Parts: sequence; structure tokens; C-alpha cells
Amino acid sequence: MYRTTRIMLCAALLAPAIHASAQEAKPQDTEVWEPVPPKVTPGTGTSAPSDAIVLFDGSSLSSWVSDKDGSAAPWVIKDGVMTVAPGKGGIKTKASFGDFQLHIEWRSPSKVKGEGQGRGNSGIFLQEQYELQVLDNYDNRTYSNGQAGSLYKQAIPLANACRPPGEWQVYDVIYTAPRFKADGTVESPARVTVLHNGVLVQNNYALLGKTLYIGKPFYEKHGELPIGLQDHGDLVSYRNIWLRKL
Ligand code: MG
Repeated sequence: MYRTTRIMLCAALLAPAIHASAQEAKPQDTEVWEPVPPKVTPGTGTSAPSDAIVLFDGSSLSSWVSDKDGSAAPWVIKDGVMTVAPGKGGIKTKASFGDFQLHIEWRSPSKVKGEGQGRGNSGIFLQEQYELQVLDNYDNRTYSNGQAGSLYKQAIPLANACRPPGEWQVYDVIYTAPRFKADGTVESPARVTVLHNGVLVQNNYALLGKTLYIGKPFYEKHGELPIGLQDHGDLVSYRNIWLRKL
């Protein structure tokens, strides 16, 4: 206690000296006027802001293709919602992306079927490499680094923010793509921040490499790539998908 008091006393004695040296400085000295941030009109609710690329607005799959062969996306649209066509494969965006902010809403089936990884499983593949898990974990235990909000088999989510099956859930993702040196080694890893229904579940996590079902992740040099959505055999639906390039 005595030691703490002495440090505080010293700080108090030094304070006038610090103020004296700053006397010539003006508030304007630390004002920065350029660059001017671009004006963006926010969406209402969770709708896309004015500078977003809308990847799915409920009307068509025109921004998506099959991840098998690039043919028309085989998923089903009904009532403004797209749903996995089990067995027909995943889909990916036609466009490729680097750094981005992504908003995506998903829903696992209200009719609960299966358990563990077999219940409402899908996934969002950032740059087709890194899976942000989509899974019904409302009342469903699986390995922690494979549950909803995990970066599959790499990063356990900081919380389980799942809503019950059949309800819409939101991921807001801030993604920084990895940078590679000319020789293919990693200059800086991919980084991911994820909010699940407004709850922070990944906080600027540095990925260890691409998502693997078996084995340890490692990086393979790549540039801009599409975003993929997984067909894991379950009737998972998506809506309101938009992205802002960063
Ligand atoms: Mg998955």
C-alpha cells in the first residue's frame, strides 16, 4: 500500500512539469482532416448498407454457382430463402474476394434430426479455404472446436450464442485475407472476427491454415477467392447475404 501511495505522489509531482512542456501545443495540432471517410447509408435493420455487394436478396441465385463444376447453383429458393439441396453439392460466389465484412443469416431445420455434427450442419467457407461452422448447437453437444461459431477444428467460439432450431441466426464476419511471400510462405495469416447473433464469438483470430477434416491445418498460397456455402446433407437455409470489400 505504502509503495502504491509513493508512486501516486511522484506522478502528482511530475504532472505540472508535463503540462508545462505541452503549453505551446494547441488542440488543432492533433486534428487530422484527411482522408475524409466515404459516406455510407446504413441499411435499416440488417439490410445492406449503400456500399455493399448484395450476394443474395431472396430473389435469385445469380451470384452463385455450383462449387463442383461452376454450373448453375443447385440449391432451392422458396419464399425468399435459399436452402441446401442435399447431395447436390455446395455453392460458391461467382466473384472472388480478399478482405471483407460479411453479413449472412442462416437457419437450421425446425424439425430436429440427428445429433453432434449431424444436426443442421452447413458452413461458410471464407475464400473457399477456411470454414466458419454452421451447426444447430442450441441443445446439441459436439467437439467444441466444431460447434457453431467455431473456425472448424481450429478455434472454439468464445460463447454459444445459438438460437433454437428453426429460428434465423446472424453471422457478421470481419475477414482479413492472408498475405503470402513470393516463395509461398505466409507473410501474415488470415484473421477473423465473428459476431453470432450480436455476440462476439471470434476475436481477431489468426487462422493456422485451411480447414481440414483430418490432420493439422496448413497454408497454401492463394489470391482472392469466392465464398463457399457447404452442403453437409442437412436442410440449412440462408437469406440476406451481403458483403463490403475492405
Ligand atoms: Mg460444416
